[in-house]
Amino acid sequence: MVIDFHAHYARQENFIPRLIEALPKVGIDRICLCSAGEEFGHVSNAEVQAAFEQFPEKIIGLAHVRLGIDTPDAVDEFVRQGFKGIKIINPLAPYDDPGYFPLYERMEHYNLPVLFHTGIVMRTRGERERQVSSLKMTPARLDAVARSFPGLNIVGAHLGAPWHEEASMMARIHPNYYVDLTGACWGGWRANKGPDFYRYHFFWPGAWNKVVFGTDILKVEELAAGKEIHDRIFEQLNLDKPALDAIYGLTAARLLHLTT
Ligand SMILES: [Zn+2]
Repeated sequence: MVIDFHAHYARQENFIPRLIEALPKVGIDRICLCSAGEEFGHVSNAEVQAAFEQFPEKIIGLAHVRLGIDTPDAVDEFVRQGFKGIKIINPLAPYDDPGYFPLYERMEHYNLPVLFHTGIVMRTRGERERQVSSLKMTPARLDAVARSFPGLNIVGAHLGAPWHEEASMMARIHPNYYVDLTGACWGGWRANKGPDFYRYHFFWPGAWNKVVFGTDILKVEELAAGKEIHDRIFEQLNLDKPALDAIYGLTAARLLHLTT
């Protein structure tokens, strides 16, 4: 089973019907949809909920939690609504601010995997007002979080670009820290990387069990490219079937507690 753990539900005409049509063509069985907020042109959590309720076999919902705004009670509500995980980006304070620990504690309580943006974030409007800074979202900003909440499974997106080594070391040291290799559909940060880059960062036994596949689509049209980039990377690395199975679905299925 192929699971796309990282995809965005953008405000795009007929996004859901077109996505449902595209999934089998691209070879993706299930897709985790999330919003990263209005500032990215994404829909609301309520719209994500409507989508996974309409297509429960295909769409899995990750709820967008706003650090510094949402309270732990919001997590209760998301679980009640059927969300299977959480998406976090652009916090007011750095990810390891103790003020956020009650929220992480609640996510851990519900066994919700959390997809954190890590690395340099794309530009949006109103960044001065929202105090946006990529330094609040480096992989190492999740070190204290991973240690303090060992039951909280973290997926750090984009291999922390450009803090790649920080990201892979986090994945090596913390049993509850995973990464994805998502980026812009034309390649983004991956465009100038060859197989040696991936061998260098994923060198320890079992390293590929810490990588989950995602496309990070902003538009339905990007789905195929998002999958092909991964296929190409892993082909060049000659990964064996167990590693590929883990990356493309088994690890995500375990994090999401999928039974089917
Ligand atoms: Zn993303």
